[in-house]
Amino acid sequence: MNSEAKAEYASLYLHFPFCESKCHYCDFYSIGREKTAASDASTFEKALIKEIELRGKSGVFATTLETIFLGGGTPSMTPPDSMARIFAELFKYTALKPDDGTEWTMEANPSSIELDQFKQYRALGINRVSMGVQSLKNDHLSILGRVHDESHALRALDTVFNAGFTNVSTDLLCGVPGQSLDDLRSHMEKLTSFPITHLSIYLLTLPPHHKMYKDLPNDEEQLKHLLLIDEFMREKGFRHYEISNFARNNLRARHNLVYWQGGSYLAFGPSAHSYSSSERKRFKNYSSLHKYARTLSEESKLPIEWEESLTTDQLELEKWMLAIRLDEGFPKHWLATDAQKKKAEMLIKEGLLTQAALNDHSINTASERIRATPKGFALSDAIIKTLA
Ligand code: SF4
Repeated sequence: MNSEAKAEYASLYLHFPFCESKCHYCDFYSIGREKTAASDASTFEKALIKEIELRGKSGVFATTLETIFLGGGTPSMTPPDSMARIFAELFKYTALKPDDGTEWTMEANPSSIELDQFKQYRALGINRVSMGVQSLKNDHLSILGRVHDESHALRALDTVFNAGFTNVSTDLLCGVPGQSLDDLRSHMEKLTSFPITHLSIYLLTLPPHHKMYKDLPNDEEQLKHLLLIDEFMREKGFRHYEISNFARNNLRARHNLVYWQGGSYLAFGPSAHSYSSSERKRFKNYSSLHKYARTLSEESKLPIEWEESLTTDQLELEKWMLAIRLDEGFPKHWLATDAQKKKAEMLIKEGLLTQAALNDHSINTASERIRATPKGFALSDAIIKTLA
């Protein structure tokens, strides 16, 4: 692949595939503890190190990394000594050092958060934690198949701060069957009483054949959830900078911004997806741990299952999808045809788009830009269908 010849990747994603148990709504590649063999963790570590080595030797890493994201799965189940061996491989091919300005995020779940272990992660260089809380109501946590309860989640959040992390994000779900607006308000109140810098709130989505699908709230109720979240979080001083994401003190998720701004990223681990913006190409690793590990460790080959070059039409659609999801919106001149201009005017009248500048003066959003309103964020699919 030509992308191997260029040092274009300043953002890396590492996928850790193990979890305590499989949540009922999860469609990420992850393996619950009950299905994990004793040797799987070391098989994974060796394969991941090999993948970093193959990529590192081909010269694709930028010398200075902007962002690293350890996702999964549950990376916080990985012992710090194993994490240290993985990072040591990255240090060989980049100028990466702890606290050199790289945003270095680890996803964590409340079930695997210990003070000593988190102090060690911090010392290794990880400087941002994204914790999967999802709900603070025990019966909802149990419907979702989560292994923690409310008190566990709040204690875990305390532990993360006590371990020295100051840039901490939490994840919540909305649109959970039986979840009321008061439930959501109470969850956000409790989480924002901690000095969290960021909150991601995703609408629970399930395929039609899922046993909980029939219990999901209807479109009208979902809209109420999303508008309440926007209002509450903005009152708490967070910027609603992306459809599902809120940041305090402008500490937006830099790694995710690379995805949302169409930048290049290289992803490691089973099922991981990468993107080369210079080649407009996406590629994906095998989603089976054993196939992934065999390809690397026995065949010394990259574990790529498929790659695709994006067509002009796909790129055009992607351009609109990315522009609508961020509060910075898009420049007016993107509305190239009279038909597009008319459609945009209609969306402005319906309150889904606005030309008003953002209130935050630190951001350059001249009025020559058009952006989604909170209602537009909630109904972004409709905007994209109309404009793209
Ligand atoms: S903890 Fe996250 S990755 Fe693991 S099963 Fe649950 S939702 Fe999936």
